[in-house]
Amino acid sequence: MRIRALRRSILTAFLLVLSFLAAPLAITGQGTNFNPALPLTHIDNGPNSAWAESQHYLVLVSLDGFRWDYATRDNATHLLALGKAGVWAPQGMLPSYPSLTFPNHYTLVTGLYPEHHGIVANNFLDPERSARYSMYDKQTTNDGSWYGGVPLWSLAESQGVRTACILWVACEAKIAGFRPSWYATFDGKTQAAPTTEQARIDDALALLHLPAADRPHFIAIYFSEPDHEGHEFGPDARETRAAALRMDALVGKLRTALASTGLPIDLVVVSDHGMVKSEGSWINLDQFADLSTFDTVGDLLYGKTEEDRDRVYNQLKHVSSQFIVYRRKDVPAGLNYNQNAREGDPIIVATGPFAIRAHAPAASETSHPPNLGMHGFDPHLLPEMKASFFAAGPDLRAGKTVAPFDNVNLYPWMAHLLGLNPPKTDGDLNILLGTLRDNGVAPQK
Ligand SMILES: [Zn+2]
Repeated sequence: MRIRALRRSILTAFLLVLSFLAAPLAITGQGTNFNPALPLTHIDNGPNSAWAESQHYLVLVSLDGFRWDYATRDNATHLLALGKAGVWAPQGMLPSYPSLTFPNHYTLVTGLYPEHHGIVANNFLDPERSARYSMYDKQTTNDGSWYGGVPLWSLAESQGVRTACILWVACEAKIAGFRPSWYATFDGKTQAAPTTEQARIDDALALLHLPAADRPHFIAIYFSEPDHEGHEFGPDARETRAAALRMDALVGKLRTALASTGLPIDLVVVSDHGMVKSEGSWINLDQFADLSTFDTVGDLLYGKTEEDRDRVYNQLKHVSSQFIVYRRKDVPAGLNYNQNAREGDPIIVATGPFAIRAHAPAASETSHPPNLGMHGFDPHLLPEMKASFFAAGPDLRAGKTVAPFDNVNLYPWMAHLLGLNPPKTDGDLNILLGTLRDNGVAPQK
């Protein structure tokens, strides 16, 4: 009896050890300087290659909803100083359509327009696999099969360079064969908790103090502000301005921390989109058209038959000046939003800062008025959608400004900063060539 129990406990202990070896390891601060407020998961992708160890470092920061003009409007001294020391886009950077958080964060790290990487909205339906993707559903955000393209961290890992990903969209999914060596998972609670804001900087710094063999050369860090305040109070509110300056102060802290490492680090600070004051109340599309045979997600409409799609298109065609309805194939090429079934058909494009949805919530659910601040719109139609871009470091020229450019172009540029060979994407290294000290001609790996 006793021997059996002993055997069982030995077996249990053995299995426990095995499961630890097999599972990603959550590092909570023991033996490291990671901030316990934000545990990181470690995947053993091996050490940096000898070549990788000799390469420079890139830290990419996103400030969600930091509109292109907030820095000058609110005198964000740290961001402006970063731009002055390196490069910036005084008239902003163009987000991809739709100017939403998930599509654009994934565009920033893949160089692909949303319809080419597959995350065409924060929440959408895939009619071919009859499944829904939602930014709120970990089962889908963790699942690499939803994501196309090669995220910069997977590209780096595949070429022998270790990476870290702190709360960025898709950090935790295995994509193109890899997860980042170190990651913290994006979720509503963590990303919104102010206590973890400092922890993101502390963790990045701890990673940069790892031995050279393990030290990540690419670190992506996400911050959820000032987007939240922008939605709740509008882009011009005191609260939003305060949030923008709080994020600016964090950028200042990060820059000081990075300088303290003595490592050759290029720091790039961007946002995913801007923010605009919304107008009017909800526009419910089902007041104009019978959508009872459609699947819908937000304002995305999935007609199941050609007849239905055509009927609803015709019903919506001339009913409002606040949106344009297109059959998917006819969406103007400039939006890059006419090739993926996940976009639905027909497709609704707002003509101003209007809150559009397929249906009002059921009578049993509470209905909220639209947020005071909104985004998601065509940046060519609403320049308030434009995002921010600031960068400085040993590989970048000083005192350079760039005209507004599509955010897909950051990917080949960041790959170049890391010495990586990127796959063909929607981005073009030539667009930002003038910002590079080596003019883009340094031998890549
Ligand atoms: Zn938002």
